[in-house]
Amino acid sequence: MKTITRQKPYEEILQQLKFCNRVFVVGCGTCATVLQTGGIEQVSELREKLQGSGLLITGSTVIPTACDEMTAASVSENEAAIQGANGILVMACALGVQRLNFYLDKAVLPALDTLFIGLEEHPGYYMEACAQCGQCILGYTAGICPVTACHKGLLNGPCGGTDKGKCEVDQERDCAFTLIYNRLKEQDRLDLMRHYHPPRNAQVVPRPRVKILEQKEMEQWV
Ligand code: SF4
Ligand code: SF4
Repeated sequence: MKTITRQKPYEEILQQLKFCNRVFVVGCGTCATVLQTGGIEQVSELREKLQGSGLLITGSTVIPTACDEMTAASVSENEAAIQGANGILVMACALGVQRLNFYLDKAVLPALDTLFIGLEEHPGYYMEACAQCGQCILGYTAGICPVTACHKGLLNGPCGGTDKGKCEVDQERDCAFTLIYNRLKEQDRLDLMRHYHPPRNAQVVPRPRVKILEQKEMEQWV
């Protein structure tokens, strides 16, 4: 499972950096390295490009996993170079950006767009598998998520456009409900195609969603 990112257009990166002239660049040694959007090479390339655009680079680092709490150690190790910058440019997913923002008072700016959480189906091929909807129905859909597999995110069967099992939006792809039907049939659970999923009331979901571990749940990790 990886967070899928892509680099923002260079013009947009420059636009974000408009107010500053000294930049510290941060990459991520996990997802962004695998995706080649924020590893050592990409950080080095972006550094050179920014210098070519007249910006002073005070330093750079590739944090092992930019979204986790070990980021605090990297921030301390690079304190002088970070303090010398007036903008921190992050080549990591939005979680990495927010993790750095948590530790720093300075402007922390994303160099990447975060697209989705992807499941690696075969080497180098990542498929969006879950949109964290908060009400999982995989148990009724043979393990295929209609929220991500259907272009319209439908829950209760196909739209009227399904054609010979293909999706009306993308003829190259099977309709999500063709996949679900076939899989349920194999499992002799076709009755689940009739199961009704009521619409979610998104208005009553408080944001941001929070999960607080109980003391005993915390203790198992100590
Ligand atoms: S239904 Fe789909 S989007 Fe919702 S939690 Fe399950 S896998 Fe994730
Ligand atoms: S054809 Fe199927 S996958 Fe495509 S939008 Fe309609 S229901 Fe969703």
